[in-house]
This record gives sequence, C-alpha cells and structure tokens, in this order.
Amino acid sequence: MSVAGQSLKVGRFAPTPSGRMHIGNVYAMLAAWLSAHAGDGSGDGGSQAGLEGKQGKVLLRIEDVDGPRALKDADEWIMDDLHWLGLDWDGEPAYQSQRTEIYEEALRSLESVSLDDFPLVYPCFCSRADLRAASAPQEGDRFLIYPGTCRKLLTEHPDEVRSRLEAGQRHSWRITVPEEGARGSVVTFDDRIFARQCFDLPREVGDTVIRRSDGIFSYQLAVVVDDLLMGVNDIVRGRDLLRSTALQIWIRQALVASGFAKKYGIERIDGPTYAHLPLIDDPTGVRLAKRKRSLDIGSLRSDGVNPEQIIGYCAWLLGIRGPRNVHMPDATGPVSMSAREALECFTWDDIRADKSDRILAANWASELTGTKPTV
Ligand SMILES: [Zn+2]
Repeated sequence: MSVAGQSLKVGRFAPTPSGRMHIGNVYAMLAAWLSAHAGDGSGDGGSQAGLEGKQGKVLLRIEDVDGPRALKDADEWIMDDLHWLGLDWDGEPAYQSQRTEIYEEALRSLESVSLDDFPLVYPCFCSRADLRAASAPQEGDRFLIYPGTCRKLLTEHPDEVRSRLEAGQRHSWRITVPEEGARGSVVTFDDRIFARQCFDLPREVGDTVIRRSDGIFSYQLAVVVDDLLMGVNDIVRGRDLLRSTALQIWIRQALVASGFAKKYGIERIDGPTYAHLPLIDDPTGVRLAKRKRSLDIGSLRSDGVNPEQIIGYCAWLLGIRGPRNVHMPDATGPVSMSAREALECFTWDDIRADKSDRILAANWASELTGTKPTV
C-alpha cells in the first residue's frame, strides 16, 4: 500500500534451490517484482508507478527447508540469474535451512493451543502406505485429504498415543482444521487474479503435516512463519497454490492466536494480498519443470539471449503488451524490455483479462529470441 500512513508493500522471491531457474520461474518472479514495486493503482485501473515511482520492496528467501532436495550452488545460480535479469531484491537473502529453531518455536506455540478441546497439533503415526490406502487422490495439486486416523486415535485412546510417543515411534505432526460446519471451517480470501476464493478446510484441505516424520518442517509451516516474521504482505505465485493459501491462512491465524508473532515483536498483523498466476505448460502440454535443460536460463544465456528478451517474453506471458506508444503501436508478439520498462506498463487487469494457463508455442525459443526492441 502506498497510501500515506499505510504499510509499504513487501513482496518476496521464494525459489527452491533444486536447479537452475526456467522461464516459468522468471515469469513468477517478474510478477512478484512488478507487484511489489507497482503503485496501488495496478490493482484496479492501471499502474502509475513508472521509473521514478518504484515502490515497495522484495525480499529473497531461499526455500531449502527440504535439505535433501536442495542442490549445492543452486542458490548462487538463482541469485546470479536474478541479478542478470535486473530483478533486484532488498537486503540479505534468508535461508530456510538456517531457521529451524524458529520453526521449532512455532510448532511449540501451536502445541500450546487447542481447538474445541482438541490439540491444534497432534502426532500422526500413519505411514505413507497407510495414507495412500486410505485416501483418494485429489485433483492436480496433490492434496491428500487426511482420513483422520490419528485424530480419532488421540480422541479415543489418548493413553495409547502417549505410550507410542514414549516408545519413540516414528511420527509426523499434523495441524488440526475445524470440523465441518464449525466456526472457522471455511476460509475465504480475495485473489487479485482469480477473485474471491472459498475453501472448506475439513472437506478440501484436511489436517495437514507441518513437521514430517524425518524431522523436516513442511513447506506449509515454513512459508507461513517466514511470511509472517518477514512482514511479507504481497504474495504472488502460481495458481496451483490456491488451496494451500487457504491452509496457510488457517496456520497464520493459529500462529497469531498462539502468541507466536508477539514473541517476535510483531504487533500489527495485516493479512497479505494474494495473486495466483496462471501456470505455464511446455509445447507438449506438460507443466514446466526444472529438469528440462532446454528451458533453463543457463542454456538461454549461453545461447546469447539477453535479459531484455527473457523479461520481454515473460512480460508478454503476463499479458503485458509493451509500451503501446510510438515505438510499437501494433505489437502483438513479445517485445524486448527491461523489468523497469515492464513496470511502466504493468497492470493486473492484463492478467485478469486472460486467466487461462499459458502454453508455450512449439517455436517459443525463436519467439523469445525474435523479441523486437522497443526502440
Ligand atoms: Zn495418522
């Protein structure tokens, strides 16, 4: 928010260091960068930010909480590519792998809270195989609705749970969501692109693991803790996380209610603004993945592609049609531009006008290298 007296927009880049960035990552980071730096008008009716009016800030958080998935040096490649692309961030990068004690504190805080006389966090002894057998796979975002086995166990046989814990039986920790129809069971939020979203936590999300049985904190907990403590109030990411957002709002409320935020000196807590982007598929209709070498920024750079071509192409995927001025009155394809130039013509209205997932054309690489300069 740039209105006097209201807080500065704080966005974030939150890459997972599991490989080199690809076009889809740059598309999402560019959107996050534009959102944080654009004026408020970008939401509804056009951005007036411009070169002089770069507002807000963007933090960089390396999401290496899942140590085994992190690739050595990938954080360096990501930062080098961001610099090269002109997508700057503010302050030092934060590493989730160095924040374990904070996540432990968050878990302890949640353990101190109960929900209608049931603990807000409880141990789950189910194996992956148990869960697969008990749950029907949900849509595309890989949410398995937990059937509640260990919630029932704790309700009906608390002594058994205690003795299993004492015996050191392997377990994860789950966060409890309200029962169907109970207060707080439905989470709603307004997405900048997909408009009002409404999720029924017990039916569509379920009790979710926040610490795995191998001790690793889940993405869902780490992200909420970090966004809360880092003051992130402008979240931009793929639409595959819409349902996760409902869960994260629940976890965030629970953390605030438990007094966790206060312990870190956070008094004022405004919910973040969310924008969930259309996803990008490759020409064969497969979601972009890091393993496709042909799509990564490293190979584009070694092919002699320049940053403005990549930014211009990603801006075009975001619906930005370039400065429709004297230089390019009739531009229909991607136009080469810097991030700062993209900021001048950025508005959420362009993405809202076409929310469909993007499919890269078979000749996307030549579209990208063929981007026309703005002058
Ligand atoms: Zn269980």
